[in-house]
Amino acid sequence: MLPEKTDFDFAAPAGAELCEALLFFRERIAMQLLEDRIRRDGIVRPGGILKVDSFLNHQMDISLFEQLAGEFARLYDGCGVNKVLTIEASGIGIACITAQKLGCPLVFAKKTKTKNIAGEVWTSKVKSFTHGDGVVYDIIVSKDFLGPGDRVLLVDDFLANGAALTGLIALVRDSGAELVGAGIVIEKAFQPGGELLRSQGIRVESLARIRSMSVENGIEFC
Ligand code: 5GP
Repeated sequence: MLPEKTDFDFAAPAGAELCEALLFFRERIAMQLLEDRIRRDGIVRPGGILKVDSFLNHQMDISLFEQLAGEFARLYDGCGVNKVLTIEASGIGIACITAQKLGCPLVFAKKTKTKNIAGEVWTSKVKSFTHGDGVVYDIIVSKDFLGPGDRVLLVDDFLANGAALTGLIALVRDSGAELVGAGIVIEKAFQPGGELLRSQGIRVESLARIRSMSVENGIEFC
């Protein structure tokens, strides 16, 4: 027999709604902080490059990372992520804090130009966006640190053409691990990577999405 309703039962939905509203505002605050920071400190370079190395990928603002990583952890809460995977080097900082929030290890794929890769490793290829056309890296992850049974969240600082994520996804699939999704700090939505990956059914969560940017007109967010 069901117990009679109490005041507490009636209060529960209101509490849940309040929690949802608070989480929504926290999300908006994290995203607003990031957009404000990009507007303030980001430098648009010719060739579609955004320099954010004063806070994201050279000097790192760890209290900002706390907020951003908290947002990734909230978005992927309950997805059973047991491994965060990124690619060296610029994604490692944010990926570390995200792994800490999710309570799991971070693994980073190493880049190597060596063709003869020794040892028990998963490998894939990535075309570099920042190092110019035609530069292709082999990326490697030890089989000791990724394999069947793992549920993987990819984290990176930027999403542009999607080459880095595509290489990581191939590696995850080869390893027999399960891909949960990707968390991206800055998606350049005017480049095709995001659409390409989402059209393959991959969950991609980006904290800031840039619709357009130019040296003359600055940055416009989606
Ligand atoms: P994708 O492989 O999606 O074309 O590019 C993503 C990778 O290239 C990221 O790991 C990031 O390091 C780098 N990248 C792409 N666009 C930019 C950019 O505008 N600025 C910086 N600093 N790095 C970028």
